[in-house]
Amino acid sequence: MTDPATPQAPHDWRPERFMVIAAHPDDADFGPAATAARWIDAGSVGWLVCCTSGDAGGEDLEADPLALAALREEEQRVAAAIVGYAGISFLHQPDGALANDLALRELLVREIRTFRPDAVLATDPETLFYGDGGINHTDHRAAGMAAVDAAYPAARNPMAFPWLARAGLAAHNVRRLYLFWSNHPTVRVDISATIGRKIDALRAHPSQIRHLEKLDERMRSWAAEDGEAIGVEAGEALRLIVIDEDADEAPGPATDAEATADR
Ligand SMILES: [Zn+2]
Repeated sequence: MTDPATPQAPHDWRPERFMVIAAHPDDADFGPAATAARWIDAGSVGWLVCCTSGDAGGEDLEADPLALAALREEEQRVAAAIVGYAGISFLHQPDGALANDLALRELLVREIRTFRPDAVLATDPETLFYGDGGINHTDHRAAGMAAVDAAYPAARNPMAFPWLARAGLAAHNVRRLYLFWSNHPTVRVDISATIGRKIDALRAHPSQIRHLEKLDERMRSWAAEDGEAIGVEAGEALRLIVIDEDADEAPGPATDAEATADR
């Protein structure tokens, strides 16, 4: 787990507003849910975007994909309430056939320009294999790549999808990307206080999790590995891409003067 680029201090930058872009319901909860919960507890506002509704996420050939999608949206709504997101958008793209095409990027640019996040969290599109032990789902790669392309340059370029700006969705600068399920994490967030919320959020997806009784132990053991690197009980590893350096504007620990000015 040791990466030469990994700082030994827990990552403590915090966006005022952040958006998690995921391929399927449950991805955000297996992903950065505890970081999201930590930031929300500290005053950030988070929004979740699910590109698909997970209509192929089962093994029953007789299952009705629309009924499965509805069930998984409901599971994700319950989980999102546990994490504390302000809301969710479902883009209703086809599960298993997600493509980083212009149509998906336009949908994501709409979401970004509407919610106006400082940071976007998405699956690392460079993860084709998980180390030597597994293949990253094609939808995860497509959603990650589309999120990256939507965040930069499309969201900040008023001439990209110009009908959006003409309709009032002004260009917006996403300043940072945090990529999850990365083979090259660069920061780790202390999630000791919120790992329980992540596990509770995952329990809200019973259609997807086979061994609920083992979930707690499994998630805590994974989080312990990332926590160890920063000297805490539980951590989440993310690959940080800084698009705009913003030392002066970082919300970080706000001073009293700044906090007053915001009101
Ligand atoms: Zn997934």
